[in-house]
Formats: sequence, structure tokens, C-alpha cells
Amino acid sequence: MTARIIDGKALSGKVRAEVAQRVHALQKHGVTPGLAVVLVGENPASQVYVRNKAAACEAAGMLSRVISLGEDTPEEELLNVIEALNADPAIHGILVQLPLPGHIDTGLVIETISATKDVDGFHVSNAGLLMTGRPLFRPCTPYGVMKMLESENVPLRGAEAVVVGASNIVGKPMAMLLLAAGATVTICNSKTRDLGAQTRRADVLVVATGKPGMIQGDMIKPGAVVIDVGINRLESGKLTGDVDFDAAAQVAAAITPVPGGVGPMTIAMLLVNTLEAAERSLRT
Ligand code: NDP
Repeated sequence: MTARIIDGKALSGKVRAEVAQRVHALQKHGVTPGLAVVLVGENPASQVYVRNKAAACEAAGMLSRVISLGEDTPEEELLNVIEALNADPAIHGILVQLPLPGHIDTGLVIETISATKDVDGFHVSNAGLLMTGRPLFRPCTPYGVMKMLESENVPLRGAEAVVVGASNIVGKPMAMLLLAAGATVTICNSKTRDLGAQTRRADVLVVATGKPGMIQGDMIKPGAVVIDVGINRLESGKLTGDVDFDAAAQVAAAITPVPGGVGPMTIAMLLVNTLEAAERSLRT
């Protein structure tokens, strides 16, 4: 079998075009969606992510505001910046780029973002809403994965879904969204015994560990849909996922590439979340 490639770049282009249309419609009501991205320090990867997010925002006709703070910014100063953004009516979405420098309490920072502007969906109240089946903001990466599965008409009701990785950002919300769609979900972590025995049961396998090549072809059920969330930079400079793509593509029915798979969808869904926050602001 040679797997169908799920083209995240093409799908994200479609989502972004739809967002741009809805932004245009919203502007007729006098509202331009605004996203503030706060960056602390000079982590080069974070700088690239922030630039990409701001550019995507502007391309969709949204307002983008990037606030760059020095590496040794005191926690209190960062919290004050967030409070000011919470109160700013031009800003509908606030995102603090992670990771933060070690002297700052990441949990406290996320809890300071107003839950109604938390477009990353990381605030405990948004995590709780997702868990109880009333999501306000779905975290962008798992939300993008769901959009990909939907666009590929992958049946989820009654399907065996296995999520490898259990972070608050990807694995756990991913599992909640799959569960809400009717899948039977298994979550694996670094302590899972015989990982292959779990992954081989999966009709839908989502991998988010940050361990390049950890999923080999013989760990995949023939005909499965494989979603590779991992982004790893090899010593050669090449970007790769967590799945051995060539081997997996011989076994799976469909697979996402890295790059060009889940990554572009994450940014597209950030725009969706910001747009929806702005649309909600009209109704309140
Ligand atoms: P974390 O490091 O926070 O979490 C990794 C998870 O993988 C943990 O739950 C860990 O288990 C689990 N894990 C590690 N090793 C194994 C193993 N051998 N077997 C099974 N589980 C294992 O990472 P993130 O969730 O933040 O990110 C995961 C990957 O996804 C990274 O490569 C990251 O770059 C990428 N990513 C991509 C995005 C995109 O837009 N495409 C967005 C966000 C992340 P335990 O809980 O036991 O430690």
C-alpha cells in the first residue's frame, strides 16, 4: 500500500481563505479581529513562530500586535502586559509564546490571560470546558488535526484512536476531541509498555512526542490514518516528524508529511479561534 498524503498546506490555505472572507464580513460591522502575540526572550525558533503567526494574521486582514520583551523581564511586568491586553477592546486573542524563561511561572501567566481571549485554549477553564464537552477555544494543533480528519472523511465514531504523547498542549486535548467525536481513545506516554501493541490497534494514530522516527512501519495497522504532529530538526538541518514516513507510507492508508502537514494547520486554526473570539465580542 502507498498512503495518500494529507496535504496540510493546501487545507490550511483553504481555511485561511475562509477566515479572510469572514474577517471581511465582520469588518462591515465595524470589528477587525485583533491578535496580540507576546514573546519573552530571544529563542530563535520562537521568533520564527511569532513572525509566522503575525504574518498569517495580517494576510487574513486581521490586526496583529507583537509585544517583544527582554529575556529577564520580571514576571510582574509580563502579567501587567497581559492585564492591559485583557482590557483592550481592539484585541480579541492573546497568545504568549512558549516556552517562557525559567524565572517565570508559565501556569500563572496562562491563567492571567482572560479565558475569553485565550486563543491557544490552554487556560484551565478552557481545558475544563473542553473536557466537559462545551469547548470555547480548542487548542490549535489538535483542532487542526480534527479539521484534517474531517476533510479526509475519516470515520471517527466507533474508531480505535491512539494518541502517543500526553502533553497539555497536544496529546490530552487531542484525546478529548477524538473522544467527543465518538472514537475509542487510548493515550500513551513515555511509560507505556509495548507501545507497538497499542499503536497497531489504531485506525487513527496521532503521534506527538518530539522523538524522531519513534513510530516504525511495523507499529502501524495496515490501512490506518497516521497523523504526525512531531517537528524535529535533525543535525543535518532537515525537519522531520516522529514517524518513519517512508516505512509508514507503505502500510497506512493516509499520512501527514512533515513539514507541510499539521504545522500549517496549527496557524490556520489560531486564525479561526481569533476570528471566532471577535465574532463573539459582537454578540456580548
Ligand atoms: P512534550 O515534550 O510536552 O510531550 C511529549 C509527550 O510525549 C509526553 O507526554 C511524553 O510522555 C510522550 N513521550 C515521550 N517519549 C515517548 C515514548 N518513547 N513513548 C510514548 N510517549 C512518549 O511535547 P509536545 O506535546 O509539546 O510536542 C510534541 C511534538 O509535537 C514536538 O515534536 C513538538 O515540536 C511538536 N509540536 C508540533 C506542533 C505543530 O504545530 N505541528 C505544535 C506543538 C508541538 P510523558 O508524559 O510520560 O513524559
